[in-house]
Amino acid sequence: MSIGQLIVLTGPSGVGKGTLVRALLARHGELFLSISATTRAPRTGETDGKDYFFVSQDRFQSMIAQDELLEWAEYAGNYYGTPLSAVESQIQQGKKVLLEIEVLGASQVRKTYPQALRLFILPPSMEELEVRLRGRGSDADAAIAKRLARAKEELAVSHEFDYQIVNDDLETALDKIEQILFGAIV
Ligand code: ADP
Ligand code: 5GP
Repeated sequence: MSIGQLIVLTGPSGVGKGTLVRALLARHGELFLSISATTRAPRTGETDGKDYFFVSQDRFQSMIAQDELLEWAEYAGNYYGTPLSAVESQIQQGKKVLLEIEVLGASQVRKTYPQALRLFILPPSMEELEVRLRGRGSDADAAIAKRLARAKEELAVSHEFDYQIVNDDLETALDKIEQILFGAIV
């Protein structure tokens, strides 16, 4: 059986990572999305075990201590991390495993999993990023300000990733990602 691949999709909050991932999963049955653990409270409509594993601070700390996470980071006051065992078993089964994570965690993956393919999604502009964050309607003003401040730091390291994809027109961005994952340029 062929061994799968780890694919990391990163970029600032609001850039469209979740939208791109949903479209990719709908089109490609061989992709498996890793479900992260987080200490953040669920948003309306989010389900434990589907959107995230919603865990306490104590549980998250014990996951770190027991080496249960492939990477983790603090983001806007909460912890987020990738459970290692599900990723490993899906890769063993030949799947392409997608991580949709923020930039610090994605940078860690380079050290813990150097064979991963790492894609950075860029917004067409900071103005458009703010429009998207506000348009999503899921965060209060203070949280949006934190996410925009963080975005500036994140964009500064985008060149460290294997590929940079601008999510201006959604279909064009999807095409580029599909080329990288399934086309001849991998
Ligand atoms: P992220 O997962 O990176 O935080 P989301 O996927 O939640 O971002 O997208 C943030 C908002 O931007 C959503 O309202 C989404 O519908 C919108 N969006 C995503 N991609 C595009 C695009 N190419 N053009 C315009 N709006 C987009
Ligand atoms: P949100 O609170 O909007 O769901 O997520 C905030 C940020 O955390 C997003 O950029 C998202 O991609 C990132 N994120 C989600 N899961 C993980 C994870 O397991 N590890 C890391 N490092 N970031 C994550």
